[in-house]
Amino acid sequence: MDRRRFLSSTLAGAAVAGFPHLAFGAGRRLRVRADVPAMTLSGAETILPKAVVKELGASLHGSLMLPGGEGYDAARALWNGMFDRKPALIAQCSGPADVASAVNFAREHNLLLAVRGGGHSIAGKSVCEGGLMIDLQHMNGVHVDRQRRVARVEGGALLSNLDHETLPLGLATTSGTVSHTGAGGLTLGGGIGRLCRQHGLTSDNLLSVDVVTADGKLRRAAADEHDELFWGLRGGGGNFGVATSFEYQLHPLDNEVLGGAMMYPIEQASEVLKVVNDFSRKAHRELSLSGNLLMMRNGRGFVMMSITYSGDVRKGEKHLRPLLEYGNPVRKGVQKTLYSTLQTANDQQLAAGRHYYMKSGYLPEISDEFIDELVRRVEPSDKREQVVVMTQLGGAIRDLPDDATAYSHRYGEFDLMIGAAWDDAAANDANVTWGRDYFGAVQDYTKGFYTNSLMDESADAIHKNYLGNYPRLQALKNEFDPQNLFRLNANIAPTV
Ligand SMILES: Cc1cc2nc3c(=O)[nH]c(=O)nc-3n(C[C@H](O)[C@H](O)[C@H](O)COP(=O)(O)OP(=O)(O)OC[C@H]3O[C@@H](n4cnc5c(N)ncnc54)[C@H](O)[C@@H]3O)c2cc1C
Repeated sequence: MDRRRFLSSTLAGAAVAGFPHLAFGAGRRLRVRADVPAMTLSGAETILPKAVVKELGASLHGSLMLPGGEGYDAARALWNGMFDRKPALIAQCSGPADVASAVNFAREHNLLLAVRGGGHSIAGKSVCEGGLMIDLQHMNGVHVDRQRRVARVEGGALLSNLDHETLPLGLATTSGTVSHTGAGGLTLGGGIGRLCRQHGLTSDNLLSVDVVTADGKLRRAAADEHDELFWGLRGGGGNFGVATSFEYQLHPLDNEVLGGAMMYPIEQASEVLKVVNDFSRKAHRELSLSGNLLMMRNGRGFVMMSITYSGDVRKGEKHLRPLLEYGNPVRKGVQKTLYSTLQTANDQQLAAGRHYYMKSGYLPEISDEFIDELVRRVEPSDKREQVVVMTQLGGAIRDLPDDATAYSHRYGEFDLMIGAAWDDAAANDANVTWGRDYFGAVQDYTKGFYTNSLMDESADAIHKNYLGNYPRLQALKNEFDPQNLFRLNANIAPTV
């Protein structure tokens, strides 16, 4: 019997037999009336005796969820609606002790393991079919030490949780541009956002990480403790364990900034992107700049300059004059605004639950030839909305050498992302093919890709993408996760 049939038939049988699959946690009566079918790390089928499942549930202060139980479907749903996977168990953890219990359980039973922070893995890596899912959604606390300008953030917090506590205090660190993204996944892979040219990647602002490693131990990784692990956690993704909290250096930020977008008809795409590229060469570090193409289903399309200037507003107005006075925009939307407003401005447009496909690559430089090729490929389709985003990097990201942390792509001048969104599952194949073809046509202009934009790259491409940092990362993987328990990520393969 194949794996899928095994799981569905066993689960169906269990449901007929009145298998309760209820959510439960410590202090509540645990009702598991049947053994639980599950999936091992190697993809084999296994059966978890109900007694051991009950034991895991009793050990948690959070909840243990089984298929059919209350909250189970909400917990397993990711941002990208393409992925509809059903873990055998979901441990919704309340803190590091719960995480340690769940990690120990997965290791002892050799279970396929997924770790969910904010659930924004574009490739659906934070949910698994038939294994154990560690869900950190409720570990979302943020505490700010105003004196030290340090934020301590739990491993499942969203960027909105972080901004909510720091911005009213006039403090911030680099985070992403969509507030429902998880701080955990974003930080472990790098972290690119409106402040990165000024303050570096999110991971460059890390002071320490508390992490439960594959042996179930809670360790603190920082410059003065487990420093090699700390190095690997800053760019190595979720490969080394479950990060239960992060400490970030914060920086003063005046909430009043200059921001918004200048929009032009899609017919002007080439010239506008060239203006963005030319201007980027002299851009202040306070400027976050991207050139974007948008194509709606109805055939209407726009090219946009997306701008945030987070320094002195007057200085910004002067600096940005060549952009703000360029051409005849259909919408001139750059104005004095609040940084906190910009941080949530894209939230609706990138709502959870739709189907998404995205491919990304770093651009070490941008040529006119590249822009012309990129633009030539834009064509309307009623199957999807399309977006192309070219985000300027550089600035403070380049202040550190390539091997300062495990993030391997400091050379990138821009990050290129080509993506599509749609709702009808019947269009999945066509839209994935479109995305692959489009990206394939310009891939030669890119070098490596952002691990946080992982989509469907091969294991080999993932290894190569860590560039010169790979051997060091592999040594860390051998030390902290020789069994490759944490494999649903931009995976580093252990060799022991
Ligand atoms: C709408 C959207 C907007 C985005 N915008 C940006 C942006 O502006 N800047 C940017 O840099 N990136 C951006 N990204 C990419 C984003 O950084 C990655 O998708 C990131 O992995 C999301 O983290 P998460 O915790 O939400 O995801 P999850 O799906 O929960 O996890 C992603 C990966 O990280 C692992 N992981 C998550 N939390 C932990 C943890 N605490 N400990 C160990 N492993 C963990 C998971 O196992 C998984 O492998 C965006 C993605 C989306 C979907």
